[in-house]
Amino acid sequence: MSRAADYIGQSLSRGRVSRRSFLEFCTKLMVAAPFGLTLTDRARASEVAVELKKARRPSVIWLHFQDCTGCTETLLRTSQPDVGTLIFDLISLDYHETLMAASGADAERALTEAVAGNDGKFVLVVEGSVPEGESGQYMTLAGRPAVEVLHDIGGHAAAVIAIGSCASWGGIPSAEPNPTGATGVDSILRGKPIVNIPGCPPNPYTFLATVLEYAVYGKLPALDEERRPRFAFDRTIHDHCPRRAHFDAGRFAEKFGDEGHRKGHCLYRLGCKGPETHAGCSTRHFNEVVDAWPIGIGAPCVGCTEKHVAFRKPMFELAAIDRAVPPTTYPPVNAPQGSIDPRATGAVGLVAGAVAGATYIASRRLPMAGASERSQRTWSQRPPPPGPAPKGDEEQKP
Ligand code: SF4
Repeated sequence: MSRAADYIGQSLSRGRVSRRSFLEFCTKLMVAAPFGLTLTDRARASEVAVELKKARRPSVIWLHFQDCTGCTETLLRTSQPDVGTLIFDLISLDYHETLMAASGADAERALTEAVAGNDGKFVLVVEGSVPEGESGQYMTLAGRPAVEVLHDIGGHAAAVIAIGSCASWGGIPSAEPNPTGATGVDSILRGKPIVNIPGCPPNPYTFLATVLEYAVYGKLPALDEERRPRFAFDRTIHDHCPRRAHFDAGRFAEKFGDEGHRKGHCLYRLGCKGPETHAGCSTRHFNEVVDAWPIGIGAPCVGCTEKHVAFRKPMFELAAIDRAVPPTTYPPVNAPQGSIDPRATGAVGLVAGAVAGATYIASRRLPMAGASERSQRTWSQRPPPPGPAPKGDEEQKP
């Protein structure tokens, strides 16, 4: 684990990441957070880079509760920068059970030291839901219920990020009948700034942009009523979906594998929850692969970033739609077309014929300057082709 007491600029100067790669990373941050962050409110990626280099690397302690580790996986799948750079150059990841080598008593000691060394200054990241049922006995860490560990470590944190849908509000483990009493971090911890970054998985750049905004300016981004960063959750997937034109035109896939599905038509009738789901998946794909997101591969959105949609509503139930038609400023998809009046066609034909005839006559009477002279030259009178003339063959024809 690396020391928190240095700066991103110092860390980058160790040479593990090239300037080009760092600028590419800053560009991706600007794309992930085009507004709403002080960090990315710049004209150029180089300006973001300058701001980042001045910042102290934030200490991050990452706890796992009832999770599948998919949120960590999505972080590992960022290829720009790769995970080594991510961990050791941008943030100081001082405790992470999946990535650290220590286990057992050594891991417990690492956690205690990480908290003591950054008391009141570290960012606590929680992955997975917290089981409250049966006094928290469904999950224990070193003999302590997970809910107690959360209270303990969270009490020392400067800010808390609940990453993924499970940590945000329970996710899959909280689906009915929710035997473990799984719930989200913000229903347990009080008196701490908490950010929810839901998603199954969440977008890694949303997480990085949030942490780095905190590292540079000591503040968290503006949040919506579900504590999600507005810069990433301000619009619905439906707003920017590449299949939106099909929705507006009434072209739907009716069954998986039918002609509409194969042609890439709208998935609304297959249960797509894009119209009621706030997230940036339609513009910020995953794993650095174009179209790597559910709708991009033909699967309806399940609404995993919404507290009351994924794992609550049946998968194939139709989504609620608050804007069934495109804004009035958009051109119509199916413009109304009237029938053609034969008299109008005749009039247009007469005008077109008159214009064509006049053009032809004018072209005969007004030949281009020099055209007649050129047309009367013989082959032998024409100028030679470019380049030196062949020696001893002055009469050679081109
Ligand atoms: S319903 Fe789903 S697939 Fe159709 S346009 Fe909206 S988000 Fe895209």
